[in-house]
Amino acid sequence: MTDELFREDATLLQCEATVLAVDDEGVVLDRTVFYPLGGGQAGDTGTLTATDGAVLVVSDTRKHKGRPGAIAHVPAPGADLSAFTPGTRVQLQVDAARRRAHMRFHTATHLLCALVPHPVDGCSITAGYARLDFHMNEPLDKDALSAGIARLVAEAHPVRHRWISEDELDANPGLVRSMSVQPPRGLGRVRVLEIEGVDLQPCGGTHVASTAEVGDVVVTKIEKKSAMTRRVVLGFASAP
Ligand SMILES: [Zn+2]
Repeated sequence: MTDELFREDATLLQCEATVLAVDDEGVVLDRTVFYPLGGGQAGDTGTLTATDGAVLVVSDTRKHKGRPGAIAHVPAPGADLSAFTPGTRVQLQVDAARRRAHMRFHTATHLLCALVPHPVDGCSITAGYARLDFHMNEPLDKDALSAGIARLVAEAHPVRHRWISEDELDANPGLVRSMSVQPPRGLGRVRVLEIEGVDLQPCGGTHVASTAEVGDVVVTKIEKKSAMTRRVVLGFASAP
């Protein structure tokens, strides 16, 4: 089981941890600031530095398939893992620029959800773009959506998460906007993300603290993927 520090504080990009195991899927630590691929958001990259100075480049982060609750830090191809045996203390460093882009885009996808009142049936968030697939057949206007995002960014709405009980979630089915990413069940509580006055929905991802920090995000493309799917692609208006 890995303690997921990024769930409580998305600005935390460094910490110390202890190696619990190393296997085919990667390095498992007792705690981490690395976000694992999930909810459409890409896994973090960065480095692990052992006390003897050995550096391991982490090329991806995934939920461990064989160990429930554990997170695998995926080593770059050909990496030397000899210094990272169980019990080793390591210093973690997330690639800050890449994560920052994920956080800005991820928060922007929530703004898009507020502007497009239709269910979401697909989502992908990377450092270069984000896309959301909406289950709908009405046309969407690229410039109007970009203007809507710019307005919500200028209004600087606070962004915060809190935990609610599964009973509370069941009593409010309208909270779940996504058809493809259902909130994890069985833990007794569900993390919800609130953009004050704008959007409220279950989400485990990392976000900026105010919509102002989303900055210059615009709609770059709208595609008709199928009769009932409209794909909206987001990009940075200027280099981040
Ligand atoms: Zn989110």
